[in-house]
Amino acid sequence: MARYIGPVCKLCRREGEKLYLKGERCFTPKCAIEKRNQPPGQHGASRTFRKKVSDYGIQLREKQKARRIYGVLERQFRRYYADSTRRSGVTGAVLLQYLESRLDNVVFRLGFASSRKQARQLIDHGHFSVNGRKVTVPSYLVKPGDKIAVAEGSRKSVFFAGMDKELKSARTPGWLTVDAQQLSGSVLNLPSREQIDTPLKEQLIIEFYSR
Ligand code: SF4
Repeated sequence: MARYIGPVCKLCRREGEKLYLKGERCFTPKCAIEKRNQPPGQHGASRTFRKKVSDYGIQLREKQKARRIYGVLERQFRRYYADSTRRSGVTGAVLLQYLESRLDNVVFRLGFASSRKQARQLIDHGHFSVNGRKVTVPSYLVKPGDKIAVAEGSRKSVFFAGMDKELKSARTPGWLTVDAQQLSGSVLNLPSREQIDTPLKEQLIIEFYSR
């Protein structure tokens, strides 16, 4: 699956806010938004943020922000939206549920990775299993009852050594549970809107696609 591999701080600067795409660095003064919060490009300082933005512009930016936070390309994002409209429930909340159910997001939320990008890389490299079977697809959608674990052969690697202590102090969302000792986690239920803390106005995204 294709993915964006360019500089990620540029994406935050384009949105004019922190999207937390780089793990630890996002919480330090080295963050590009802390140092230089202006749109990327040679004329970034003189370009947007324009004072008057159309409704379309506002909706587009919210959709782009969501795509960038979760690291999803347009075609797949549009597919999530289409699937959400077919499911029962509030479309915006269902769309966020799809994004949260991705394996890369779950690995990040469980505390195994410091960013979704790092989680994607770990999954790509075969470091995780779901219900005992190795899964190397970051977009794999988890279901309630699924058990996500560090693959047997990866447990002794330098990256995961000592991670049990970090996991114990990690803040896991209520719809997931982590077993630090076993380097694993389970999905209790799919998250309700209240359990998703991503700063998004999903209604704007729905308006964008239903134009
Ligand atoms: Fe965004 Fe993190 Fe880069 Fe800051 S350090 S600009 S929050 S990706």
